[in-house]
Amino acid sequence: MAKDTNPLSAQDVVRSGLCIGCGSCAAQARGADARMALDRYGELKPAGAAWLRSRSASLARTCPFSPAAVDETQLAAALFPDAARGSALVGRFEAAYVGHVTEAGFREAGSSGGMVSWTASELLRTGRVDGVAHVAANEEAGGDRLFGYRLSRSPEEVRAGAKSRYYPVEMSEVIRTIRATPGRYAVVGVPCFIKAMQLLRREDPVMRERVAFSLGLFCGHMKSTRLVESFAWQMGIAMDDIARVDYRSKNPGRPANWYTVRFELRDGRTLQKDWFHLAEGDWGAGFFQNAACNFCDDVVAETADIAFGDAWVEPYSSDGRGTNVVLVRSPVLARMLADGIREGRLQLEAVDEDFVERTQAAGLRQRREGLAYRLTWHRRGMRPRKRVLPAAAALPWRRKLIYRLRAAISAWSRRLFRLARIAGVERWYVQWARRAGAIYHVLAYSQGRLARWFGLGA
Ligand SMILES: Cc1cc2nc3c(=O)[nH]c(=O)nc-3n(C[C@H](O)[C@H](O)[C@H](O)COP(=O)(O)OP(=O)(O)OC[C@H]3O[C@@H](n4cnc5c(N)ncnc54)[C@H](O)[C@@H]3O)c2cc1C
Repeated sequence: MAKDTNPLSAQDVVRSGLCIGCGSCAAQARGADARMALDRYGELKPAGAAWLRSRSASLARTCPFSPAAVDETQLAAALFPDAARGSALVGRFEAAYVGHVTEAGFREAGSSGGMVSWTASELLRTGRVDGVAHVAANEEAGGDRLFGYRLSRSPEEVRAGAKSRYYPVEMSEVIRTIRATPGRYAVVGVPCFIKAMQLLRREDPVMRERVAFSLGLFCGHMKSTRLVESFAWQMGIAMDDIARVDYRSKNPGRPANWYTVRFELRDGRTLQKDWFHLAEGDWGAGFFQNAACNFCDDVVAETADIAFGDAWVEPYSSDGRGTNVVLVRSPVLARMLADGIREGRLQLEAVDEDFVERTQAAGLRQRREGLAYRLTWHRRGMRPRKRVLPAAAALPWRRKLIYRLRAAISAWSRRLFRLARIAGVERWYVQWARRAGAIYHVLAYSQGRLARWFGLGA
């Protein structure tokens, strides 16, 4: 492993807008005050004093957005040398599936087909791991953070933590615990978190041995805490009154991609609303997106032993019970899934890379074509090193406008929300967000009408 890397500090990464808030740097820092905290925009960032500025080559090699870190293609080649299949968009894999869990309880409780909780539970049940690091609701909701990483040590605990949390979380505590506690662990995370874990495993032999499996979640982008706060504003709910949040309450009778947020309040009431009636209802508009996501080129967790997403193509998108798409890269997990299928506990059909790519078409466009365009923009701080080269020339004007507007919505939603929050005038933000969302909608979905208005080709 190269040891001549230019050193980097956590502050360098934050100032360059490249910090996703994974907490790997805080877990490695020697300073007693090293921690992660919510910033003024509701994003997790390294906090403390002296350690933030101290530069280290090891941080430069292990931060997932560091230009000096090994990229996803190189990591995957070293991790899965025998994976026979693959493509430039989804990386290496052994097998790909679409389907869901048939064993009782998992699909109903999961955000999609329940495959993540099933796989994590099965690893525990079969003794392949002693603990699973994943994200669950914090016991005391209404405090500083609604959700966080925890270590579950039984299948029941894993099952109780099912569901997707579009909320900032960080791994510093679980990394410290894993390092301090002998055993074998599985880690669930979005692509950049799994990359951070794989980079740490290259650096640290203890983590290499103990983190035995990584379970990736496909990812569109990371949201700040403000998404749930804004939903609560628009539904007339005070954050202190919230006992539980479900970003994707399931209704088997409605399409899976009609997301419904559901709040359970401390007084026992439940309130829910469809995302498309809320200002930020269109995921693609990029409200409250972490700035680092503008420089990500991995949608499908290419460095994870197994990765899971939603099958966003018909007929699956219309099936409100939820359907996963799965990429398996580890031979051990490939056998575990094959056993599950044979035993009738999983209903999975083999698919190819084209199918997987179609399920994530929008996310892949944003991380390839969109990333190439964003890399041509002027920016301050460190230049990210990506597997995509800067390119703008061949991009039609409408696509350029969509990427510009999406980036503007991401940047301005955080600032305007902060202003409205400080002033205590919620409508300042909400009215702006509704207008911005409406403009995005026309631009993204009314191609013919726009072209006619301006007399241009789309
Ligand atoms: C921020 C984010 C963006 C996503 N974007 C996409 C996308 O663009 N396309 C797509 O197809 N899928 C995306 N997903 C994945 C999708 O939402 C489902 O998580 C996935 O399909 C698995 O569903 P399941 O029913 O199998 O999981 P479940 O059985 O519901 O289990 C989910 C597991 O993930 C863990 N978890 C939940 N939230 C987090 C988190 N933030 N970080 C780490 N672990 C977590 C839970 O603790 C649980 O163990 C995203 C997920 C997240 C968190």
